[in-house]
Amino acid sequence: MTQASRQMYLVVDVSLCSDCNNCFIACKDEHVGNDWPPYTGSQPRHGHRWMNIQRRERGQFPRVDAAYLPMPCQHCEDAPCVKANPGCLSYSPGGAVLIDMDRAKGRAEIAGSCPYGAIYWNDEDSLPQKCTMCAHLLDDGWEMPRCVHSCPTGALSFRRAEPGEMERIARDEGLSRYRDELGTKPRVYYKNLHRFVKNFVAGGVIKDGDCLENAEVRLSGGGVEAVQSTDFFGEFKFDGLDDGEYTVSVAGDEALKVLVDGRSVNVGEIVAT
Ligand code: SF4
Ligand code: SF4
Ligand code: SF4
Repeated sequence: MTQASRQMYLVVDVSLCSDCNNCFIACKDEHVGNDWPPYTGSQPRHGHRWMNIQRRERGQFPRVDAAYLPMPCQHCEDAPCVKANPGCLSYSPGGAVLIDMDRAKGRAEIAGSCPYGAIYWNDEDSLPQKCTMCAHLLDDGWEMPRCVHSCPTGALSFRRAEPGEMERIARDEGLSRYRDELGTKPRVYYKNLHRFVKNFVAGGVIKDGDCLENAEVRLSGGGVEAVQSTDFFGEFKFDGLDDGEYTVSVAGDEALKVLVDGRSVNVGEIVAT
């Protein structure tokens, strides 16, 4: 398999991102004040978030968590920005979507052609700009983009693979694409995406005034049938749920009805009989 036949992919593990912003700063360090023609011009110091880390809190106190979704240009295989602006954007041999600095100059409407909001307008240079997947570095022999290199937790990784091989990796590693329903086929894949796009039902079980460890808790509804044992603190948490009506029951006791409608639910303490 040759390097040229391989495509470039970015894999993001949502569960490993701590929102440290190293990737965001590395992107700024690489691009602010540096022109990398023909890949892109200098990134403005303010306003542009080529690595845009989105944040989401779930649950109600004290059963809350936070997830971070690092979101650069998704380098879509079937990119709406390429289709909407013929000649102004193109695919590199490795699959990075790049904006032509000359042809795109003065074309502010290009910034509106990305459904992910990944293209920014540079007013000073009159240029639409976005993440280039650090193609200037990769073409120069770098093994990974700056943001990946800077990530201290391993939340970001860079892969080169043939498309079929990447599909197999995605299946084996449980990777998915963000907003897959758009049909743009991103080359950015996410692991543990449910932490950002789905919800949980959590609670605690008590008996005789104490946390009840190893209580069997059952959740049903929306095609889901799941069973958990409470932990040392009597806690349970069913994650990755779609919107819908569920029931939660503890070891055969009366079931509690729970509605998940766009947010996670802390059902509070359940008293086991
Ligand atoms: S550097 Fe890694 S851990 Fe830090 S915000 Fe970026 S992806 Fe998350
Ligand atoms: S994320 Fe947006 S800018 Fe990037 S390739 Fe896809 S449509 Fe184009
Ligand atoms: S791949 Fe390069 S250009 Fe894209 S977000 Fe990472 S550092 Fe920035």
